[in-house]
Amino acid sequence: MATAAVKETKTAITPKKKTKPSRLCFTPPVNLKNNKKNIYYTRYDCIGEGGFARCFRVKDNYGNVYAAKVIAKRSLQNEKTKQKLFGEIKVHQSMNHPNIVGFVDCFEDSTNVYLVLELCEHRSLMDLLRKRKHLTEPEVRFLMLQILGALKYMHKKRVIHRDLKLGNIMLDESNNVKIGDFGLAALLVDDEERKMTICGTPNYIAPEILFNSKEGHSFEVDLWSAGVVMFALLVGKPPFQDKEVKTIYKKIKANSYKFPRGLEISNEAKDLISSLLTQDPSTRPSIDAIADHAFFHTGYMAASLPDEVLDQKPTWP
Ligand code: ADP
Repeated sequence: MATAAVKETKTAITPKKKTKPSRLCFTPPVNLKNNKKNIYYTRYDCIGEGGFARCFRVKDNYGNVYAAKVIAKRSLQNEKTKQKLFGEIKVHQSMNHPNIVGFVDCFEDSTNVYLVLELCEHRSLMDLLRKRKHLTEPEVRFLMLQILGALKYMHKKRVIHRDLKLGNIMLDESNNVKIGDFGLAALLVDDEERKMTICGTPNYIAPEILFNSKEGHSFEVDLWSAGVVMFALLVGKPPFQDKEVKTIYKKIKANSYKFPRGLEISNEAKDLISSLLTQDPSTRPSIDAIADHAFFHTGYMAASLPDEVLDQKPTWP
């Protein structure tokens, strides 16, 4: 069996830089302060690193524990990168949903910008797949419903996430989904606006972003990525995965993916994935139609995920 989804970098879309921006972020001081609000934070261990930021566990002076996403000011030298961060903060601050990482606070010192976020103790679905290889259908049913709930909320607020992927879908201490990283999100002025920027992560990027750039794209790109996520959770790797980005794009264009033999995947799951991975965005189902799909009404539906899922295939009643 192929290994879990490998790297999820945005390198093919964002021009390569000599230094990964997050490398410019040294470990911040142990004592941090939001001067405007007079809140003190103690910085603990590093819990993750992305393309731009490093993430540390922090505790405020009231004893609340959070994740602080730290972005080095040295990596914000060009206007585009600054605007990207302002955009991320503006959109993320406006989100309030149980399946979206809570935005708690934001401040800066002379070296860094700090985004204080709800802590996702159980890391990302990428980390989960590294351990588990692939998940069972009841687990995927549970996770997908929470992902769809968060997407429905975002889309209602006219926000397109545009970077939905295993690494940006985290789990809290009760194993509930928390979608994070609004670094590529777009806030539309109205439902009819089309976005023209080519952005995303190669394995997850919708075909209309790559091949129909004149017409632009909209909310449906997140549903395509949700289809890629669902396939990856059941199979252990994204459907169009390849070493070469060019080949990934060719496979996306040809809609060429296969369910590996030897894995038991229900026809309902296959049917839902194929409807999400529909080339024409206008024929992708609405979020309500997806939630009505037979996949969510056949088989075991868990009310929560036990901690056992973090290490091994769970036993359902
Ligand atoms: P970037 O914008 O550089 O891609 P991310 O938002 O992806 O940064 O954060 C980098 C890493 O930090 C993530 O891959 C994840 O491992 C970890 N991380 C981010 N947010 C949280 C959080 N709220 N709780 C726990 N870990 C987090």
